[in-house]
Amino acid sequence: MKGIGVSPGIAEGNALILNKEKIHVKDEYIDEYEVDSEIQRFIKAKEQSQEQIEAIYEDTLKKMGKSEAEIFEAHIELINDPSIAEKVEHNIKTKLLKAEPALVKAIDEISGIFGTIDDEYIKERAADVKDIGKRMLYNLLGLNASLDMDDGQEVIIIADDLTPSDTAQLDFSKVKGFAINKGGKTSHVAIMAKSIGIPAIVGAKDITARVSQGDTIIIDGAAGDILINPSPEEKEKYVDKKLKTDKELKELRSIKDMAAVTLDGRRVEISANIGFPADVKAALENGAEGIGLFRTELLFMDREDLPDEEEQFLKYKETAERMQGKPVIIRTLDIGGDKDLPYLGLVKEDNPFLGWRAIRFCLERLDVFKPQLRAILRASHYGKILIMFPMIATVDEVRRSKAVVEEVKMELTNEGIPFDKDIKIGIMIETPASAIIADKLIKEVDFFSIGTNDLTQYTLAVDRGNDKISKLYQPTHPAVLRLIKNVIDTSHKEGKWTGMCGEFAGDHKAAMLLLGLGLDEFSMSAGSIPRIKKLIRTMEYEAAKKIAAEVMEMESSEEVCSHLDSLHDNFRRSRDE
Ligand code: PEP
Ligand code: MG
Repeated sequence: MKGIGVSPGIAEGNALILNKEKIHVKDEYIDEYEVDSEIQRFIKAKEQSQEQIEAIYEDTLKKMGKSEAEIFEAHIELINDPSIAEKVEHNIKTKLLKAEPALVKAIDEISGIFGTIDDEYIKERAADVKDIGKRMLYNLLGLNASLDMDDGQEVIIIADDLTPSDTAQLDFSKVKGFAINKGGKTSHVAIMAKSIGIPAIVGAKDITARVSQGDTIIIDGAAGDILINPSPEEKEKYVDKKLKTDKELKELRSIKDMAAVTLDGRRVEISANIGFPADVKAALENGAEGIGLFRTELLFMDREDLPDEEEQFLKYKETAERMQGKPVIIRTLDIGGDKDLPYLGLVKEDNPFLGWRAIRFCLERLDVFKPQLRAILRASHYGKILIMFPMIATVDEVRRSKAVVEEVKMELTNEGIPFDKDIKIGIMIETPASAIIADKLIKEVDFFSIGTNDLTQYTLAVDRGNDKISKLYQPTHPAVLRLIKNVIDTSHKEGKWTGMCGEFAGDHKAAMLLLGLGLDEFSMSAGSIPRIKKLIRTMEYEAAKKIAAEVMEMESSEEVCSHLDSLHDNFRRSRDE
């Protein structure tokens, strides 16, 4: 079977299927005089849940370390978020619901808002809300929310889904890996598996139905392969592969803090994409040399109102300080498209991806844009911050954005507030228009960062979130590659640099091509950094340039992909030999 491999390594064990039945809660009603006692029942369950999560936090901190425990810190914050309690109490008071259905409805509503946003990271916040909701429900019902594991041999956990608290309670002296029906690449369970260092596969659809308790299971957490009751020959093949993979993982860990420099001396920068200050930890642990993209809109989501200047300032300052002088590229608010902020009450658009999005919104809503720029500039005093504007399509947009920055700088100077007077300003190249007029735009800015996620969708007219046409979504399409090349070349002609913060930058098969095209900075999710660094350290720039020149002559994405695939395989083989 195949799933999405999210944490590399090969593991073998007996299947332990976790059947956690979903509890169905009926709408039961109360009399008005029972309102107070139902609210009290809810408050007690909430307090109990908080104590349990605190205990899991302490335990995780001891067993796994700070970065894994941070998830539970977030859960503690979430459980104390007044909006959940307010919604539950509102449901009890006005709808006269029992505490259980009142809670289920509140959790469904809050997680539903997150769940509709087409961003894997935000979707995972929905999973967090559900996780604490489930715990509170178990406590209301007097059930035990913890995960019981039998003593026994080494096991591979097979489950529909694993919440962070389920994962933290697993005994890793026995659990050698897991494969679950649900989950995406950035699910918490995936992140935790990666940092614990055990092989894991998510998105395995109906694995729980295909496996029986006690079956022998082998999983390959890099390839996403799951073998159920393999033959002796298959087993042997995987033992060999395991030896190789273990060696590679050890090597990756050992080089993660080294520079990304090719055998013939071309040095590039490898950075991380983040959404919150807390993500800095994983970025640094994986060897990031900077933050190539701070998606600030995530700070604006999962709440009822706009974060004010002070709140943003503290978040940007914390990020800059935690990066200790390494560059942090803060992208100004990119909402609109698939990222709505319900509290702004924006009018629904027929084509939101072609609509009032990102810089277009900010330039008209200076009441939102200026406080953010003030916060970023104030934070620039505490580390190395760069500003980046999203969704630029015209020179005028850049000039107007820079004018607002100048205005804010003046205000700060008049108020005697310190900031980095020399702060660098760049733009995202994620519209075909901006890639085509790169020669005009580069005169206005210090750097470019290519957003291949949007650049691909706009160049090829293929909605990046539409499964039906996902085959047509090809960052390796010659049209996209020509735009990328033009952008890099143009910036170099002006003595400036180009980075890439779209997903393509972390694609290990594309690394050789992007290196050969002259990309200066690769920004990606933290977990991809060590592998890309290793690839670059074992490549020659001159060879990569030749490959890029060949690829630029090709006529289809299929041709480019099959060429890159075979090069990658040959390259790996010769390196391993
Ligand atoms: C991109 O479009 O490639 C990008 C990095 O921005 P986002 O994914 O946040 O739209
Ligand atoms: Mg984008």
